Amino acid sequence: MRLCRFDDDRLGVIQNDTVRDVTEVTASIGRPTSRCAHGDPLIAGLPNLRRRIEELAGQAVPCPLSEVALLSPVARPGKLVAAPVNYQAHLDEAISEPETFSAAHVRRIQETGLFLKATSSLVGPSEGVPLRFPDRRSDHEVELAVVIGHTASAVSPERALDVVAGYCIGLDMTVRGPEERSLRKSIDGYSVLGPWLVTADELGDPSGLSFGLMVDGETRQSANTRDLVLSVPELIAFASCWYTLHPGDVIFTGTPEGVGPVLPGNRITAWMERIGSMDVEIRSA
Ligand code: MN
Repeated sequence: MRLCRFDDDRLGVIQNDTVRDVTEVTASIGRPTSRCAHGDPLIAGLPNLRRRIEELAGQAVPCPLSEVALLSPVARPGKLVAAPVNYQAHLDEAISEPETFSAAHVRRIQETGLFLKATSSLVGPSEGVPLRFPDRRSDHEVELAVVIGHTASAVSPERALDVVAGYCIGLDMTVRGPEERSLRKSIDGYSVLGPWLVTADELGDPSGLSFGLMVDGETRQSANTRDLVLSVPELIAFASCWYTLHPGDVIFTGTPEGVGPVLPGNRITAWMERIGSMDVEIRSA
């Protein structure tokens, strides 16, 4: 199943190039309970809501995808976890450009660990990315984003995929410079999630997905998740041995080589096999 949020916080199911409005199901979620106090209530409830969502989708009038504004598929993640350099070729690129990338950028992920992005930086594709510091370089980073579906602490790599709700395309936008990653990558709009969530059962194995990114139609990044240094299960295991993962938490798995600057007026197109593609406008703040 492909789930999106759109327009005025409506919930939809994507079928071909249409959206079917299933917002009615959210009325049964109510206020967050103590059970999911740390999680996104919709993602936490998804296993129980799934059948009703499919029923509603079957009855809904399809609306062309081109007529809706896509929001982040996850509304209220508790945390945005992100992997620093997690593709060898991107590490090589960072080492070769010391004037652009900070010293911390050229260490291996096993040494650096993970970082967090502010949840306030999260937007959907329709909202665009405002460049808050136009005099500094802001880069695109396209990544596979993993949405956690079940509370998990110290999960083993062998069981890690069992806690995944689904997958999205993520843009981990970045201001280059010497500050901490958590600051440079937490600017409003600098975490883009979209175009929708593909549930784990529909996507299957996340380890061999081709993906890429274009700026104004020119390919900048092109890679495959098989080249991740720490795989999706290893990243989930790593993260969950430091802190509990909750439903709706998002893991940005790291970007491959080819990162580069964007300017106001640019249009990013990010795509991923078995997920889809999304257009994101870069604009002035
Ligand atoms: Mn990144």
